[in-house]
Amino acid sequence: MPLNSQQPGGRAQVMSTIAENIAKVRTRIREAAQACGRAPESVRLLAVSKTKPAADIRAAHACGLVDFGENYLQEALAKQSELADLALTWHFIGPIQSNKTRPIAEHFHWVHSVDRLKVAQRLSEQRPAGLPPLNLCLQVNVSGEASKSGCAPEELAELARAVHALPNLTLRGLMAIPEPTEDIAAQHAAFARLRQLMIDLDLGLDTLSMGMSHDLEAAIAEGATWVRIGTALFGARDYGTTP
Ligand SMILES: *Cc1c(COP(=O)(O)O)cnc(C)c1O
Repeated sequence: MPLNSQQPGGRAQVMSTIAENIAKVRTRIREAAQACGRAPESVRLLAVSKTKPAADIRAAHACGLVDFGENYLQEALAKQSELADLALTWHFIGPIQSNKTRPIAEHFHWVHSVDRLKVAQRLSEQRPAGLPPLNLCLQVNVSGEASKSGCAPEELAELARAVHALPNLTLRGLMAIPEPTEDIAAQHAAFARLRQLMIDLDLGLDTLSMGMSHDLEAAIAEGATWVRIGTALFGARDYGTTP
């Protein structure tokens, strides 16, 4: 057995920490779902692995997770090739530059962060013929000026109708990253707004991608079908530099 597998901070330690974290997050999801009368299986766990090594994804997969979310394209592609032996479902959740759509169309199963038609059109055109349609969520800015990404709620209906009509994509639902707040009522209000926007679209969408480590309970109470969890599974992120 390699020496470092028994040292604190070694792979064995990281593995058991991730296993414990997954169990805790699953408990939070189950309790939040039960508290509002939802079936726990109606809430899916998307593990957000940005900045974390491929080994962490491998450890989480060994505990039964298959859905992983990444924000940075080059980093995601590198991890995908390292993990090509695993049957994983990859979700792109970061900001998208329109000249970077091709690798996203080619290498992901879901994209949660589309906020303009040009990006959706390019993803549709560039989706390889042999692959199933790309699952897509439209990111909506439900926090007003506090957030730069996401389409404005007033522009959503027109965007959603245009995206819904594109081939090679399946418009699944809406995604939001509300302004972080400790105020539970404000968390609920933002998520409820996203849910209402989806209902108002009346396009038969089935997906609400909302809720992160600090606010998954409020998101689940308001109808989240994907919660996107990073820190609570993999620990705090180290970006190397402080801006
Ligand atoms: C980083 C990130 C998450 C995960 O956030 P945590 O607070 O670490 O759980 C979820 N969604 C998006 C879009 C992210 O960029």
